[in-house]
Amino acid sequence: MVDTHNFALATTEQAGNLLQQKILFLAVGSTEQHGPHLPLSVDCDIPQAICEQVAIRLGGLVAPAIPYGARSLPQSGGGAGFPGTIYVRGSTLIDYIYDILRSYVASGARRIVIVNGHYENEGLIFEAVDLLREAGVLDGVSLMALSWWSVLDSAFVANVFGSSFVGWHAEHASLVETSLMLFLKPAATHDIRVNHATPPEAGILLHPVASESVSCRGVLHRTSEASAERGQTLFEQITKELASRITKHMEVFSQYAVKN
Ligand code: ZN
Ligand code: MN
Repeated sequence: MVDTHNFALATTEQAGNLLQQKILFLAVGSTEQHGPHLPLSVDCDIPQAICEQVAIRLGGLVAPAIPYGARSLPQSGGGAGFPGTIYVRGSTLIDYIYDILRSYVASGARRIVIVNGHYENEGLIFEAVDLLREAGVLDGVSLMALSWWSVLDSAFVANVFGSSFVGWHAEHASLVETSLMLFLKPAATHDIRVNHATPPEAGILLHPVASESVSCRGVLHRTSEASAERGQTLFEQITKELASRITKHMEVFSQYAVKN
């Protein structure tokens, strides 16, 4: 009996029907340093777990995640100076995502949700999708692409962490990612909590920059207040919000498709 949520376990004779009938979830992440307490796979693990949970809720299909992403920047990802940060050029990522999505559509996919877990990927994913749209590849296809934190209201997160949360720009390997990993993959986390007293300012890129000045061992802000319980609260909110937005978007698209 095939696991109908896991696309990679389908046979070729099942794949076309599954893609035509179900919403396809594709996580895009990175292999990137996440401080001394988290594995390199955080930016894949979180969106993949979100995809699996929402796919179960909506009867969707989960694609194999894309494990390499765009260049890590010091102020948002700690930077490439840390061992284990493996990235591709933006043009490579655009081409790679373009080709993968084109293949899924050619295989039958009609409803696609891309869940990004690595900040620096976002604009490149959007560009790949827009190039597909311009090329006509997405005619008749409903697609939604987002970074998972986009469905989390800042006020909700501030309510979970109090004043320790200073904004998404400082969250690399910090409160939110650490809490989510403690909930989702506790065995892959380490019992080390470092804090960085001066998180980077939002939206400012500095050159030259010393990695140690923008992070503490790769952590942009705080980890002390992270917990599995808080991670569960965040995860449930993310998956609930994402499911409702997908349902809303797909309904709007269906109405639009009928009218036109
Ligand atoms: Zn991350
Ligand atoms: Mn990242």
